[in-house]
Amino acid sequence: MSRIPVYEPCLDGNVSAYVNECLTSGWISSRGQFISRFEEAFASYVGADAATSVANGTVAIHLALEALGISSGDEVIVPSFTYIASVNTIIQTGATPVYVDSLSSTLQVDPAAIIAAITPRTKAVMAVHLYGHPCDMDAIVEICREHNLLLIEDCAEGFGSLWKGRHVGTFGDAATFSFFGNKTITTGEGGMVLARDPAVMERCRRLKSQGVSPSREYWHDMLAFNYRMTNIQAAIGLAQIEMADHLLNEKKRVADTYARLLEGLPLRLHKAVGDVRHSYWMCSIIVDDCQDRDALRAYLAEHGVETRPFFHMAHHMPHCHTNQVLPVGEELSKKGINLPSYPKLTTQQLEHICATIHAYFDCAAV
Ligand SMILES: *Cc1c(COP(=O)(O)O)cnc(C)c1O
Repeated sequence: MSRIPVYEPCLDGNVSAYVNECLTSGWISSRGQFISRFEEAFASYVGADAATSVANGTVAIHLALEALGISSGDEVIVPSFTYIASVNTIIQTGATPVYVDSLSSTLQVDPAAIIAAITPRTKAVMAVHLYGHPCDMDAIVEICREHNLLLIEDCAEGFGSLWKGRHVGTFGDAATFSFFGNKTITTGEGGMVLARDPAVMERCRRLKSQGVSPSREYWHDMLAFNYRMTNIQAAIGLAQIEMADHLLNEKKRVADTYARLLEGLPLRLHKAVGDVRHSYWMCSIIVDDCQDRDALRAYLAEHGVETRPFFHMAHHMPHCHTNQVLPVGEELSKKGINLPSYPKLTTQQLEHICATIHAYFDCAAV
């Protein structure tokens, strides 16, 4: 059996046809019909009024924070157990990230830890829907309302994730998505920003495009960026949105197969908890004994199965280091493995992966 990667994008459907339309028409830069078509299709898919496309998921977060006015002197509460982009973008605005712990059951930020971290300088909370499971949005929305805090949702890993039937990204003041090659829908590199307040949305549109005046040519009246997406990326994105339900169904099939084939081992799966839809960006296992994590990964690699370790805690990175102890996230970070999670995984491949995991624990038991 050939090597099984952790991820592989599905570029079926209209991807090639739409990209070719860009090439034959010459609209390859950040103007062209696919930009607005993708933005409108995306907004409608997630149930938002509007969406604005950007170059990647990292600048999406930076743009959202800038548009909401987050700046130096502000504190932004963020789980330390996340991808580094959630934290770097906070630092890039001049604000200070305040790290909090996560919940063992869902892997998501702990609402009680958010409350405990609030100070007079707290300006915002960043909820990250990690690995495709939604955060507890009832609790987080309530905390933000009660303490008058802005809420930003990093939905880079949450496309297709629902909290009580509602798509993530529609709860906060702003929300961001990533379309990197291994994300649930992809444009190669790409991202999207949503904002509840139309004025914030307008600021996002201006800030991402050099702050050009809507009424006067080549007049720039604010410090701004070039964070635009290209028409080619948007062409891929539109074709991906058309396939989104199919991709999510296939990923659910993969997750259900793992759940069935990995029963009875000294590990747990990252299952949906409560009235949510887990979109299974990554299908993850958490081994009981942290000694098994790297050994199992090495064993899988020897048998042609690529995996990823869970993220390191952000507050352990040199440039954002604190001396905090965040025990739940720190333990998860040492015990978690992301298994191959892409829509086209076959039953045969899934059986091989699971048989290899069983074989590892059978050997370890001897
Ligand atoms: C992928 C990801 C990002 C960044 O997206 P890019 O498109 O790679 O810049 C941000 N936050 C989280 C949680 C991610 O997984």
